[in-house]
Amino acid sequence: MSPAAAGPHDGGMHATTVSVPVPAAPAPASTALIRARDVTRVWGKGHAAQIGVADVTLDVGRGELVAVIGPSGSGKSTLGSMLAGIDVPTSGSLVVGDQRIDQMRPDQLAAWRGGNVGIVFQDFHLLPTLTARENVELALELSGLDVGRRDRRRRATEALGWVGLGPHANKLPAQMSGGEQQRVGIARAMVTRPQLIVADEPTGALDQRNGHAVFELLTGLSSVGTTVVFITHDLTLADAADRVVSMIDGRIESVRERGGLS
Ligand code: ADP
Ligand code: MG
Repeated sequence: MSPAAAGPHDGGMHATTVSVPVPAAPAPASTALIRARDVTRVWGKGHAAQIGVADVTLDVGRGELVAVIGPSGSGKSTLGSMLAGIDVPTSGSLVVGDQRIDQMRPDQLAAWRGGNVGIVFQDFHLLPTLTARENVELALELSGLDVGRRDRRRRATEALGWVGLGPHANKLPAQMSGGEQQRVGIARAMVTRPQLIVADEPTGALDQRNGHAVFELLTGLSSVGTTVVFITHDLTLADAADRVVSMIDGRIESVRERGGLS
């Protein structure tokens, strides 16, 4: 009899039974990090209903960089907010990793966000009275992750070094250019080592050169396994993503595999 076939009933029979490693669970059929099914977000009812997102079904793979494009008001930010756990669908199911985030209570969702998602905003959202490093450290502190003060400082310094801001760690936001501030925004999003980064028009307030630099950083994160949802108006950058999701009137109009640059 093979050791693997030994069941619990053999228990007392072999005094020297070696413990057999439990075989790993079969790999999941899909390596998707995000599984959205008929995700809908509406405000109000009946005639007055405002549709943010309607019936969005989408998988995003681990380490994939997906660009979301579409005209103003097409639902990009609403979708991004739900993927990031800032907002919740009114119907449909939304799984990120192994969690049904559409069914979480607000406190559960906040705790989940802290350990799983980094968010990058168009207008940076840095606290003006804190230095670059303090802004990044604060994100780690607020994440709810169990990281001591010294490690927070070390990880913040590391993240700022990674985005090329090591020498600027002690500057206040007002002492930095827009491009630098957004790199702090990226350091802040990555310092918790999230599986998912949602960036809502992160290059929207930047010139082309700085926009490219920010996009390169997001690409770099995706190449080491972070899933990145990149909302943008910049079609050149979108074309360099693994996939491009086009939205219109809250719905996905088309999904296109990488076809553009490189
Ligand atoms: P985008 O980011 O593509 O410009 P949004 O996701 O911000 O679009 O908005 C999609 C639609 O949802 C718009 O019609 C907008 O007016 C509506 N919407 C967004 N947020 C709210 C809200 N809090 N209440 C009512 N309608 C909203
Ligand atoms: Mg938007």
